[in-house]
Amino acid sequence: MTNDLRRRVVARIESEREALVALSLAVHRDPETAYEEHRASERIASFLGERGFDVTRPYGGLDTAFRAEAAGSDGPAIAILAEYDALPDIGHGCGHNLIAMIGTAAAVGVSEVIRDLDGRVAAIGTPAEEGGGGKVALVRAGAFADIAAAMMVHPGSRTLSGRTSLASNRVELRFHGKAAHAAAQPDRGINALDGLIQTFNAMNAMRQHLRPDARVHGIITSGGSAANIIPEYAAGKFSIRARDRVYQQEVLRRFIACAKGAAAATGTTVEVLVNENSGYENMVPSTPISERWAEHLRTLGIEVLPTSDEERMGSTDMGNVSQVIPAAHPYIAIAPEGMPSHTAAFRDAAATPQAHDNAIAAAKALALVTVDLLAEPALLAQARAEFEERQRTGIVKRR
Ligand SMILES: [Zn+2]
Repeated sequence: MTNDLRRRVVARIESEREALVALSLAVHRDPETAYEEHRASERIASFLGERGFDVTRPYGGLDTAFRAEAAGSDGPAIAILAEYDALPDIGHGCGHNLIAMIGTAAAVGVSEVIRDLDGRVAAIGTPAEEGGGGKVALVRAGAFADIAAAMMVHPGSRTLSGRTSLASNRVELRFHGKAAHAAAQPDRGINALDGLIQTFNAMNAMRQHLRPDARVHGIITSGGSAANIIPEYAAGKFSIRARDRVYQQEVLRRFIACAKGAAAATGTTVEVLVNENSGYENMVPSTPISERWAEHLRTLGIEVLPTSDEERMGSTDMGNVSQVIPAAHPYIAIAPEGMPSHTAAFRDAAATPQAHDNAIAAAKALALVTVDLLAEPALLAQARAEFEERQRTGIVKRR
């Protein structure tokens, strides 16, 4: 039975190849940043709507989110996620156009056989991965409440069944002082930039005493307007990360203490703004789902490295999804090994024919896991059992 389903799924994705690549390139050449992805979400949702999906847009209270569903019967719902936000200035330097295409392709592939399965597939468009926390807001709005498992594939320079990611927060600091002529009356001024610079110094001193998995990094976004004016205002943006949320919160508290200490030392005042959608949880990938995806991809002729905790990693809001349901977030190589993402080179790689060939293969594997999850209740039960065990041991949050 399953072999016939698999053959039909793969054939359907193959038959849509040209349209899928055109969709990816359209998103790639028209980059939109976090929460501004109106044209991308419209393009992807219409693509699915034209192929018989039932589309809800906006979704979960977000204008640029959508849910497109193909229903078989009242079985479990499996979500396939699509990201489509770009980076400021650089465009699709993280290749989210390919995530969008992979998710769309996989959902269309599964829809071909959904009437022969016990369950539903939902393509969920999740905006603002690059800092705006679309999935943080969607999880909070209950957008995954009826979903049994969620999956997506991210492009990279190596093909991996998964990796963990860091828990993270974005923080903005705003220092206030008092302007004065920097040469004639410096004694009358209070230098807001000094508060910010002292924060960097305190943060760098703290760094020596942090665990190796902690990451604290920042930029100055406002540092005064002229050399002859004592800056009355200075601001910076920071990112505070660690491998688990408990330690990340400790680092965040210590970082805020650095900022407050710097304000006290310089006579400035500081506002600390922790972005509420920036609380990215650490990613805990589902082992059975990730491994099954890898098996399918190997069968399609692509080598896959196993999930590793040792991989260098950033943060993703898919971590938040992985804390509430079994979730997989593997990587497909679309660029030469070692090429970093968030660069112009990676952006250009994300538009090549080779990248699209690999992404289509990743989509076929993703569609095949989805079919397995609906056709083999034991696989979904295994994923669920692992997730519940992780809740018991505190590896994911208890609810
Ligand atoms: Zn990304």
